[in-house]
Amino acid sequence: MSVKENRRIEFIDLAAQQALIRPKIDAAIARVLDHGGYIMGKEVPELEKQLAEFAGAKYCLSCSNGTDALALVLMAKNIKAGDAVFVPSFTFAASAEVIAWLGAAAFFVDILPDSFNMDPASLIQAIAAAKKQGLNPAAIMPVDLFGQPADYDKILPIAEKNDMWVLCDSAQGFGGMYHGRKVGSIGLATATSFFPAKPLGCYGDGGAVFTDDKELYDVMASLRVHGKGDDKYDNVRIGMNGRLDTLQAAILIEKLAIFPDELIKRQRVADHYNNLLENFIVIPKLPKGLHSAWAQYTLTAASNKQRDELQAALKQAGVPSMVYYPKPLHLQTAYKNFPTATGKGLPVCEDLASRVFSLPMHPYLEDETIKYISQSLILAFKKAA
Ligand SMILES: *Cc1c(COP(=O)(O)O)cnc(C)c1O
Repeated sequence: MSVKENRRIEFIDLAAQQALIRPKIDAAIARVLDHGGYIMGKEVPELEKQLAEFAGAKYCLSCSNGTDALALVLMAKNIKAGDAVFVPSFTFAASAEVIAWLGAAAFFVDILPDSFNMDPASLIQAIAAAKKQGLNPAAIMPVDLFGQPADYDKILPIAEKNDMWVLCDSAQGFGGMYHGRKVGSIGLATATSFFPAKPLGCYGDGGAVFTDDKELYDVMASLRVHGKGDDKYDNVRIGMNGRLDTLQAAILIEKLAIFPDELIKRQRVADHYNNLLENFIVIPKLPKGLHSAWAQYTLTAASNKQRDELQAALKQAGVPSMVYYPKPLHLQTAYKNFPTATGKGLPVCEDLASRVFSLPMHPYLEDETIKYISQSLILAFKKAA
């Protein structure tokens, strides 16, 4: 078995997608250059309309990136010092960073070993701990890690019971579905990212917020442009410059057109990996009724040592692999003084950070390449045994 010798295996192959739609992208860019509306040109509201429809949300507000998308919601809801926002520790730094920007406590919660997502039991423990510390439990930020929606049937009632609201960090999960509900239509609001490597990516930075709440939408729209009021030169709140470029909106319109097909292709890649690998290693588990956007295909090795060996074997075979994330946030320098559910470590986060690794994942992975990658991994197992 061999992979076409002159072709490198990419971890995420953006060029394969671009080759498919290049003429459409070129034409979309040319249209923007022709009309010259670089800031908030007509492609921006057009994209927002299409995204809201896709996600089944009443409102979509596009913005500068996924981090700002999270921040816009927290700012609009007036998160401040003394508030606690509950967030899993096993995530990208941006999830917690925006909470800290506002002087609030990023309160770190442990995860479930099967889904890598927020553990509802740990969340309950964290809320009780926050109250004891005199913090106001304000909001919950579940993360749809690696593309799989968090356990919302458990998390939403916990929020309701404690008079809190839910902001979904779905930077990796846009395109997924939770028991018949599209990601973007769950909780008070959903933030996503169009960073190039995300399931729906542009050619630069971009992001969006989804909500059904008109008042929240209006405040975020004001915050996005420096807190503007009805009169452009009477700013009514402290805002930011958080707009999405028209060029990126034009590119995203073309990418959104092929996104449904790409989601099917991602699922097919995951199924193929699963079939080849399930007898050798812990594969990602997707409960019935959930659809993942498959931002990452993540395996769990038996030990830290085994992960090192498997990654080394893959590297030798010319297969790139990555570790998301090698260090949970509560152990990182900038975040180590923030509170955690247990008051000390978060054992599942710490364990999984030492054992997980991700294989190449994108819609255009060919069967032959998936087989080669899987065989390279299986060979490494057989050698070690
Ligand atoms: C990528 C990512 C973000 C931030 O998105 P940017 O567009 O890079 O700002 C936030 N949260 C998670 C979980 C992410 O993966």
